[in-house]
Amino acid sequence: MFDRVLLRFGEYMVKGKNRGRFESQMLRHVQSALQSFERLTVTRTYGRIYVALNGESYDAVADRLKDLFGIASFSPVKRVETELDAIREGTIEVMGLFPDAERTFKVSVRRVWKGFPHDSQEMNHLVGSHVLRATPKLKVDVRRPDVELRVEIHPKDTYIYSEVVPGGGGFPYGTNGKAVLLLSGGIDSPVAGWSAMRKGLELEAIHFYSYPFTSEQAKDKVVELAKRLSRFAGRPLKLHLVHFTDIQTSFAQAKQDRLIITLMRRAMLRIAERIALREGALAIVTGDSLGQVASQTLSSMNVIGRTVDLPLLRPLVMMDKQEIIGLAERIGTYETSILPYEDCCTLFVPQSPTTNPNLRVAETVESHIPGLEEMIEKAVSGMETLKLTPDDTGAGLTGAGKNEWF
Ligand code: ATP
Ligand code: MG
Repeated sequence: MFDRVLLRFGEYMVKGKNRGRFESQMLRHVQSALQSFERLTVTRTYGRIYVALNGESYDAVADRLKDLFGIASFSPVKRVETELDAIREGTIEVMGLFPDAERTFKVSVRRVWKGFPHDSQEMNHLVGSHVLRATPKLKVDVRRPDVELRVEIHPKDTYIYSEVVPGGGGFPYGTNGKAVLLLSGGIDSPVAGWSAMRKGLELEAIHFYSYPFTSEQAKDKVVELAKRLSRFAGRPLKLHLVHFTDIQTSFAQAKQDRLIITLMRRAMLRIAERIALREGALAIVTGDSLGQVASQTLSSMNVIGRTVDLPLLRPLVMMDKQEIIGLAERIGTYETSILPYEDCCTLFVPQSPTTNPNLRVAETVESHIPGLEEMIEKAVSGMETLKLTPDDTGAGLTGAGKNEWF
């Protein structure tokens, strides 16, 4: 029944100066997200994008558009000849989506082509009365209708639509610069990554593992999460795997149990910052949420965050766990995140980690760990990088030699 899809841009369109750039970038994103549909044509007119379906399935296209960042909402559109009877019939078909519901509606006709014999007001009545006769359960409410039936009259074609489906929101992927994401196997960090991507940040993920203390499944889980995130990117996502065992072991040997998580987080950030600078990224994104665990008290965040100069972005910092879980379910990472495989940090979690670490003490302990700087350098130079797409098998490994872990 639908002939095309109307796409509305997101919040970034208020940015006057950058508007043109965002619009063309968005057009490219839509084209690449929908490239597997061969018959589609995508066009841009001032402030909007139209996708002509040319026989492709609307549902399949809609499924893809729901995840696409930079699209505020979209509507499936029916095209009819610009002729009164055809328009009236078309509106019945579109309203037929709500046959039995007791709903309120309103008609909004826009006469883009002023040559059409009836003006917008007349058309609102002509269409509205016709719809009411055909669907008696509907009622008119011009102030707060459940359904707004829109009709746009052009010289040859008229477009009719009523449904408004939320798109991915935010900015087109990559239009706000690049960051690295600290991706653990937990619930939070994939959600943090998704939030950052939604704000237009291009991401590269970094995961720290502690083979042989952590297992093959723990890695598979993170690869799976990164693959899931790559779906939102619409292009391959890099996952850097950093071998963390030596550093962790040296911290364990320092006999500062209560401080060990603080030390590990600081080392992770140091490594992440080096990778970021190497990859041209300007921020580090984490899944921290205030007060969630000992390492996420304000005091811990302060001592941990001081390790690096790059901005630390914590999209979930003020969110409740339940809200985060809700998002994880929505973006399809939750089921993977709750698989039981151990993370490198949980293995070393002491009985009572400090919630109030002291910066000077942390720095002093670090300065007494032999070869810490070398180990950090080695971790960076020895990391391995996967380039992942949603349906990848995890192949395409690059980097300084495959280790036995794979
Ligand atoms: P999640 O693991 O889902 O983020 P969490 O509550 O388990 O949630 P922590 O383990 O305290 O969080 O970690 C805080 C943040 O540090 C994570 O959100 C993530 O950004 C980063 N992080 C922790 N462990 C790792 C790891 N092994 N690799 C990469 N980043 C990590
Ligand atoms: Mg975790």
